[in-house]
Amino acid sequence: MNEGKVYIVGAGPGDPKLITVYGLECIQKADVIAYDRLINDDLLKHAKKGAELIYCGKEPGKHRLIQEQIHQLLVEKALQGKVVTRLKGGDPFVFGRGAEEANVLAKYDIPYEIVPGITAGIAAPLYAGIPVTYRHLASSFAIVTGHGRAYKGEDNVHWEALAKGIDTIAFYMGVGNLHYICEQLMKHGKDPKTPVAVIQWGTYRKQKTVIGDLTSIENRVKEESVTHPAIVLVGEVVKIREQIQWFE
Ligand code: SAH
Repeated sequence: MNEGKVYIVGAGPGDPKLITVYGLECIQKADVIAYDRLINDDLLKHAKKGAELIYCGKEPGKHRLIQEQIHQLLVEKALQGKVVTRLKGGDPFVFGRGAEEANVLAKYDIPYEIVPGITAGIAAPLYAGIPVTYRHLASSFAIVTGHGRAYKGEDNVHWEALAKGIDTIAFYMGVGNLHYICEQLMKHGKDPKTPVAVIQWGTYRKQKTVIGDLTSIENRVKEESVTHPAIVLVGEVVKIREQIQWFE
């Protein structure tokens, strides 16, 4: 029997041209493509004829069960000798659980490769005309999960270090938790006037950006009905957009 192999591939943030050449090759040669919710469906057009396309989108609240089913699926298909491409939004190792999947494959001695992708926290701001670093304005950049809520005991973010030590912060999964995020940053010393951009559907044609500061962004986002998926970008670099907004 042929030995199967799994490619854990970052599909990039949305614009289908932003996948790597190698990532595209992995789509083209796959017998099975197991893809996540946040990938651009246009990429699946590159699958070879007869390839099996399996949707692995996760419903909120059912993460754990489904993640285990995904592990099982990857193992099963690979053991059948198939080339499996596991397609994930952005980069597979940035809030993508790609490492957990690799870990399972390693345990079963299944060959695998991991292909990086362009992550939304850099690409969405870039398409909004905002660089995450900028000379004299931002010399540090952090990628942070935005869904933690203290009252649920789920907040592992070191707010003080973030607020005092990092110039630009990209929050993923944070748009529904904006009130808490802004509150924590201000409480821990961030200037309330710090600009904030919320970028929805970054790099898609329907990309939408809303600008405010730590005190006003929550209302701006409500007024403009901006929801998931979005990057919440906090930092002085947001101002650069006034000069180099190019995509929207
Ligand atoms: N691995 C992905 C992140 C997965 S976590 C990456 O590297 O980009 C899911 C979160 O990513 C979403 O809640 C949102 O905050 C962000 N995200 C993914 N795609 C996005 C897009 N096109 N525009 C804005 N945010 C996006």
